[in-house]
Amino acid sequence: MRIIVCIKQVPDTTEVAIDEEKGVLRREGVDSRMNPYDLYALETALRIKEQIGAEVIVLSMGPKQAEDVIKQAYYMGADSGYLLSDRKFAGADTLATAYTLALGVKKIGDFDLIITGMQTTDGDTAQVGPAVAEFLNLPHISYVKEIQKVAEDQLIVKTDMQDAIETQKVVLPALITVAKEIYQPRLISYKLKLRAKDRNICVWSYSDLVEVKGLLNDETEFFGLTGSPTQVERIFAPTRNSTKEIWEDQPDVLAEKAISKLKELKIL
Ligand SMILES: Cc1cc2nc3c(=O)[nH]c(=O)nc-3n(C[C@H](O)[C@H](O)[C@H](O)COP(=O)(O)OP(=O)(O)OC[C@H]3O[C@@H](n4cnc5c(N)ncnc54)[C@H](O)[C@@H]3O)c2cc1C
Repeated sequence: MRIIVCIKQVPDTTEVAIDEEKGVLRREGVDSRMNPYDLYALETALRIKEQIGAEVIVLSMGPKQAEDVIKQAYYMGADSGYLLSDRKFAGADTLATAYTLALGVKKIGDFDLIITGMQTTDGDTAQVGPAVAEFLNLPHISYVKEIQKVAEDQLIVKTDMQDAIETQKVVLPALITVAKEIYQPRLISYKLKLRAKDRNICVWSYSDLVEVKGLLNDETEFFGLTGSPTQVERIFAPTRNSTKEIWEDQPDVLAEKAISKLKELKIL
């Protein structure tokens, strides 16, 4: 089985500064790490590899420094890695990100399963996995919390739909997004780190991906900022309103006061 795992490098902090003028997050000078949810995706692939045998390929789109997360994946047990990196890919919204990743998948070639994290800790949209599947015309299942059965041609999984747990079967090739309940991600192996320290990372740019463009159903190019149908109109950190009033009185007087305050604030 050939499994492609999509991994994204995200800022290693929850307090990323905002560039209000350009409408983007300021990522320079901020430490990065693998999106925590992608550790679960990678762990799922590695468990399948241990169970029935598989080649685990990781795929990322990002700047050159995203090679770090590919190396981390090697140290956990991934077999090969691809980075899609080009200035033309920068500023991508979720559609453009999914499109670029889908072309990367096409260029990698044969695969049976794509696994993505459920969401990221920076963009946080949970759109990219399903959108990659749509571009590639693949069946997909989101929020997988348990792999019940895995075979060369199909998967049986449990998904968490918040108010219902569903058991679903999907015929491969397919894409799944995994939730963090699925497995506990392993730590980096020192032995693998020594073995994989000089392993190659294949970097593809715009010119590599346009070659495979025609393989998708849609011929439109959705690369980077210019190919993103959504543009950030304005980005800002919400102001924290910490002004508070403390009222002390009889319950009926307090109730009256609360109602008139809510009316004053136009909440009622
Ligand atoms: C209008 C708009 C403008 C934006 N402009 C910028 C910008 O200028 N600069 C910028 O850095 N970001 C920008 N972003 C954020 C960028 O679109 C998202 O970071 C990116 O599309 C991934 O979306 P997400 O983080 O919500 O991923 P999710 O959909 O939450 O991720 C789900 C899974 O998809 C996979 N995945 C997601 N992204 C990648 C990736 N890059 N490589 C490999 N796998 C991946 C992972 O497995 C991940 O767990 C913008 C977003 C919007 C909506």
